[in-house]
Amino acid sequence: MKLKFLGGAGTVTGSRYLLSDEKHRLLVDCGMYQGVKNLRKRNWARFPVEPSSINAVVLTHAHIDHTGYLPALVKNGFNGKIYCTKATHELCKVLLPDAGYLQEEDAKYAFRKGFSKHDRPEPLFTVKDAHEALKHFESLHYHEKFEPVKGMEVTFTPAGHILGSSCVHVHHRSSDRTVVFSGDVGRQDDVIMRPPEPIDKADVLVCESTYGDRLHAESDPEAVLAEIITKTAGRGGIVLMPSFAVGRAQMLLYLIHKIMGEGRIPKMPVYLNSPMAIKATEIFSRHHKEHRLTGAQCDMIDENTEFVRTVDESIELNSVRYPCVIISASGMASGGRVLHHLKTLLPNPRNSVVFAGFQAPGTRGDALVNGAESVKIHGEYWPVKAEVHNLDSLSAHGDYEEILQWLEAGTLKPEKVYITHGEIVASDVMRKRVRDRFGWDVEVAELFEEVEV
Ligand SMILES: [Zn+2]
Repeated sequence: MKLKFLGGAGTVTGSRYLLSDEKHRLLVDCGMYQGVKNLRKRNWARFPVEPSSINAVVLTHAHIDHTGYLPALVKNGFNGKIYCTKATHELCKVLLPDAGYLQEEDAKYAFRKGFSKHDRPEPLFTVKDAHEALKHFESLHYHEKFEPVKGMEVTFTPAGHILGSSCVHVHHRSSDRTVVFSGDVGRQDDVIMRPPEPIDKADVLVCESTYGDRLHAESDPEAVLAEIITKTAGRGGIVLMPSFAVGRAQMLLYLIHKIMGEGRIPKMPVYLNSPMAIKATEIFSRHHKEHRLTGAQCDMIDENTEFVRTVDESIELNSVRYPCVIISASGMASGGRVLHHLKTLLPNPRNSVVFAGFQAPGTRGDALVNGAESVKIHGEYWPVKAEVHNLDSLSAHGDYEEILQWLEAGTLKPEKVYITHGEIVASDVMRKRVRDRFGWDVEVAELFEEVEV
């Protein structure tokens, strides 16, 4: 069996890995590139293998950097099935059409502003293409063995990253080899998600390294959050939390709900301004078994929480001047409704902006947490006077120590480990740490490299 790294190598986005033998091709994840322009440009390149020659796709989880290229893959000729867990399927029903909508909006915007090389800029894919791709989906339970292509048996085990997230185990029958893809690995001690299930057997392991060179701050996120919100409200300001719609938004809602209930922050309105995050929150409440919350906790909301659904309500929210918390997407401030809030709130020192996760290089989120004095939004520069915090300890990715602990917890003895899904330095530091801790043969995967597994 051969493994080719078609994306997610040297960067944290665009995850795509191809397993093939003489007869079949199985694609693991089919992500879009996000972040700096040079990466985003890769979405427009011809897919490195003919989509119609791929027999099936298997997904680790729903995030767009692992699934966002699927509508384009189907549009360009892929005609097989797309397999994932139940919750990943539900989340993709929300995320993929939304990605199509954003593509269409971008194309319209480029046309209006005339900055496209084409007379009529085309979206990478449309909402309709996304619905077309969703027709190819088939969902399974964790630990349920299935055979997406003949001779390759696959199972999902929980990865603890977001709802439905999994490690993908592929057993190639004729060679009796097992390749495990970590996907994005969650925390050992997440507020909401259960820890990732240890891996017991893999001949070859493909392991992520988002935080390969970093440890999360040891701080108690509830205490930090309580302090920021109380101080900001005390000076009459607003707390804005740019958040990933799926995963982190639900965790932030839960944490705020909890500390408000305990009287650690004043009672104030909490607005969730992201239609996608609202839908994800509803899906979350339906999948009790997969996370730690039970009963009433599961709602994550109370009478102080307001869902902001329409564009008009969102615009209205921009004129609010009393203390409140606004959670809005996207998490790296690279697009979405949060941009309008940033334009209003950044120039005022009374306000606070709190990021809660990994900020990819080149994003506004990265610039802001690194102390930018101004940021460009919608073609104009906006001064940064508000306090900016990065509550990195709330990330949905385990840091290197947590990943090492997770690897240690199983009975793994892989012949080979490939490090993926990290910036170049992070991946290389991760490589050394895994090698030093376990003595395994570890390499950082190179883009378009093909290896025998
Ligand atoms: Zn992810």
